[in-house]
Amino acid sequence: MTSNTYTLQILAGDGIGSEIMGEAKKIIGWINSNSDITINTRDGLIGGASIDTYGNPLDDTTLEQCRNADAILLGAVGGTKWGDIEYNLRPEAGLLKLRKELELFANLRPALVFDALIDASTLKPEIVRGLDILIVRELTGGVYFGEPRGIEDLGNGQRRGINTQVYTTMEIERVARVAFDLARKRGNKVTSCEKANVMESGLLWREDVTALHEKEFKDVELEHMYADNCAMQLLRNPSQFDVIVTDNLFGDILSDAAAMLTGSLGMLPSASLGQVGSVALYEPVHGSAPDIAGLGKANPLATILSLAMCLRYSLDQGVMADKIEQAVKAVLNSGTRTADIMADNCRQVSTSDMGDAIIAELDK
Ligand code: NAD
Repeated sequence: MTSNTYTLQILAGDGIGSEIMGEAKKIIGWINSNSDITINTRDGLIGGASIDTYGNPLDDTTLEQCRNADAILLGAVGGTKWGDIEYNLRPEAGLLKLRKELELFANLRPALVFDALIDASTLKPEIVRGLDILIVRELTGGVYFGEPRGIEDLGNGQRRGINTQVYTTMEIERVARVAFDLARKRGNKVTSCEKANVMESGLLWREDVTALHEKEFKDVELEHMYADNCAMQLLRNPSQFDVIVTDNLFGDILSDAAAMLTGSLGMLPSASLGQVGSVALYEPVHGSAPDIAGLGKANPLATILSLAMCLRYSLDQGVMADKIEQAVKAVLNSGTRTADIMADNCRQVSTSDMGDAIIAELDK
């Protein structure tokens, strides 16, 4: 085996998962046939598909396979079929477990506006042209995991819902370090977002990020911003941002807002990274889109761009990643579109045709 041989764990998941993953596999096939890179794929189940087979959304054997892979490429999980199941056994719980077990604490979500899709944004072209933001969201801590949590019966006809926002210095530093490192390879600026004005956890976040910056990253520009202001600035003047680093809850919301600047959910990839050298997870930002599942309408580009991120960050194959991203740009420029990004004077194609168009571009 050469050092260019990798094992990629594939978890297609539910809904449109198998359709979009089919197109990513075409690209992997092309890479295997046309370069010195060999990507061996291994399929596993997650989400509803895993519930139907194993009775739980992420089986231990699948988790073990994920641990032993060089990287994981995931489609999407969820669907109404599993909507009534207990909270911690639902499809989405499989994804949360995977992130937690593999300690994937940094979620990278690029918001990139392709010139060909500039009119798909709800914002004016002059506001979003050339936009290239990277949101780094803390993924394994904060209010989604903090204890105590639950719903209490107060006994007087009232109930109380509790969640706890909690962060340690270690959790803040490791995600901030990822953001600073990435900023050095991009625009060299980090905006750190919290609510230090009203939350102690936010104050700690601000102090720890400042201390880390002082100690290790003085060459990178650092600015602090309250998360609500960041939401406003994303709509007012998004090109002021390079890398935004923020906690789990604010990151969930701000990255969705940033995503919509680009106009289409079907175009957005993501990466979830752990410690340097450990296995990472790549997936499109969108969900399982049950409304279009099986209809050949899904846009596979977010998954294909997630594969490109995987090549860049986990497999150290940046040249191939660039090649795939260039092919996506060229296909969009040629007017080839799936329904979600369709525009005047363009040619609407199916999920599978879009994958073929990328292959044809790579062949050139
Ligand atoms: P969704 O992202 O699945 O769909 C939202 C809308 O965008 C739908 O109209 C859908 O048709 C469209 N869309 C999404 N991806 C598309 C693509 N690739 N091409 C074309 N159109 C696309 O969000 P939702 O409807 O809120 O959730 C559906 C299910 O997905 C739920 O069970 C939810 O829990 C789950 N979900 C999973 C993930 C994940 O796996 N990471 C993320 C979000 C939602």
